[in-house]
Amino acid sequence: MTVNVAVLGATGAVGQRFIQLLAEHPQFTLTDVTASAASAGNVYAEAAHWRLSTPLPPSAAELPVVETDPAAVSDDVELIFSALPSGVASRIEPAFAEAGYIVSSNASNDRMAPDVPLVIPEVNPSHLGLLDVQRDARGTTGAILKNPNCSTITMVPTLAAVRGAGLERVHVVTLQAVSGAGYGGVSSMAILYNVIPHISGEGSKMESESCKLLGTLDGDEVVEHPMTVSASTNRVPTIDGHLETVFIETAEQLDEASTAAAMDLFPTAELHSSPDPVIAVLDAMDRPQPRLDRMRGGGMQVTVGGISGTQTGMMYNCLAHNTIRGAAGASILNGELLLQSGYL
Ligand code: NAP
Repeated sequence: MTVNVAVLGATGAVGQRFIQLLAEHPQFTLTDVTASAASAGNVYAEAAHWRLSTPLPPSAAELPVVETDPAAVSDDVELIFSALPSGVASRIEPAFAEAGYIVSSNASNDRMAPDVPLVIPEVNPSHLGLLDVQRDARGTTGAILKNPNCSTITMVPTLAAVRGAGLERVHVVTLQAVSGAGYGGVSSMAILYNVIPHISGEGSKMESESCKLLGTLDGDEVVEHPMTVSASTNRVPTIDGHLETVFIETAEQLDEASTAAAMDLFPTAELHSSPDPVIAVLDAMDRPQPRLDRMRGGGMQVTVGGISGTQTGMMYNCLAHNTIRGAAGASILNGELLLQSGYL
């Protein structure tokens, strides 16, 4: 038996990743796709301008695109994946929760809301317990679960691996691919032969989401991990894969061997889309590289290289695929956690 699922915003850049990843999924069957009113009424193959390198899955091509409204989704759908823009999601996702659906959302709105679980299954699966708090607080039968921002999700598994050493301060500089801004997000005139410093809103998301993800669920609330995170975020002319240079300061002294071992041994969540190992640690100082390493573990693995000591702690580079581990794959992994945890 598989669980019937719907994708909201299925025609967009992240929506297409959902369609691609769900086509062969052993636990989920895609039955419904939604988009804006402009796309509704067409079949998916007509409504979506398919831009991925693998063919449009035949199982999705003929699905009718419906409006993004709970009343338009089939009654036997049990789980909703959301790839909506955040402004739209903030209005529509609560309507799906009120209609009784569990929504696994990639949109950035409400990630820091106290009753909304923000989850990476390998890092903080216990935070799923906030779903019950949310249902009680909002009086809904459904609920909303979020995955973090694509640059946060690249770094946080590496931080979780060394959390036991008493993580106190994190500095990170990102080199983020253009797909992170969506298909029409960055003009080619702006990014070719160029690097654009400062991605609006991105640094603050990394700073706040990381502390929540590494926090502890205490009763009805998440107590954030007591650390400071300072982020500088930059757009570079790569297609997919966010590369990040991370500097950490810990209470206990780490060295290259203990840092590498902690990351290497960081455990998988034992879910279908959770890679084993979660973090691939490479010896080479000039890796990871977006072109070479972004598809490791089907795009779900975090790759680390260049681990070395600094005057104040340790530094390393990490990389993950921003629309797979950082977006659609993250929401699907959260869906698998919901299933394993009995929420579906
Ligand atoms: P996108 O390409 O612009 O796609 C947006 C989708 O939402 C389309 O299916 C669109 O349908 C639909 N939509 C737009 N307005 C709507 C409305 N008023 N009612 C119903 N549906 C509507 O955006 P994206 O790049 O896929 O990003 C989607 C979400 O993922 C955003 O919240 C973004 O911040 C987040 N995200 C993106 C990335 C990334 O790497 N791109 C990574 C992490 C998170 P139509 O085709 O009919 O317009």
